[in-house]
Amino acid sequence: MKIRNYADVTDRILEALRKSDRLTVWHQEYTTSTYPLYCLRYTAQQKSSPLIYVSAGIHGDEPAAVECALRLVELLVDSDLHNRFPFPLNEYNWLISPCDNPYGYERDIRENSAGFDLNRMFETPTQCPETAFIAESLQRKQCAHPQNTRSNNTIRKRGKIELALDLHEDSESDGFYLWERRTSQCLPIGNVIVKNVAGLCSINQEPLIEDHRNENGVVTLLDQVTTKGWTRGRYLAEQVNTRCLILETPTQLDWETRIAAHLMAIQTAAKHAL
Ligand SMILES: [Zn+2]
Repeated sequence: MKIRNYADVTDRILEALRKSDRLTVWHQEYTTSTYPLYCLRYTAQQKSSPLIYVSAGIHGDEPAAVECALRLVELLVDSDLHNRFPFPLNEYNWLISPCDNPYGYERDIRENSAGFDLNRMFETPTQCPETAFIAESLQRKQCAHPQNTRSNNTIRKRGKIELALDLHEDSESDGFYLWERRTSQCLPIGNVIVKNVAGLCSINQEPLIEDHRNENGVVTLLDQVTTKGWTRGRYLAEQVNTRCLILETPTQLDWETRIAAHLMAIQTAAKHAL
């Protein structure tokens, strides 16, 4: 049974696209005639600014993640909204995939129409149209400027995603937590994110989350971790070579607190990772 309407998501995407030339459709596909998938690109005034990838809704029963991604898009294109926001989000380049499982989103279910948990399909993303779309969006990003491969302290490698944030929710958690997938050389930022989110909501203090050690809301997945299966996070780490934070808000919290927690995590990650 449908409890949400994906057309409400696409209407907000199209409205945002009308508002600003800085926002463009990076990649678009139809999984079926009913569900256009969008990956949006926001270009900062300083084109050399770092690029952040934000994705949401790969699990259809995690709606505050989708709402947060849409509000991020709306904040970027609306100067009144943005001026009231306490962090300069528009100084970054963004790649935003706001709702990756429209079928599940409308029905409030985790899986897609074929019954797959899409966040386990990234070993061969072409198996499902939704994960194929995500992989193509990321692939297109990496190949966008193959002629510009210079990289030093002052010139960033164009097309390189420097931080990826995958927005999720957890119906069994009583507090916020995150998975931090990074290499051993990469300094951790999970703790500072949790510290800031703790001002808004409780933090999950369970010693183990899905058999992984939870340290005050941070579950670290260092280097090549295979125990979570082929998630988008693993694909981002191994195929896109970027650090990835998987953010989890508890669905039992109220709606606005969950969105605020995600937005706080995004801005703190941008500030400390880049
Ligand atoms: Zn999820």
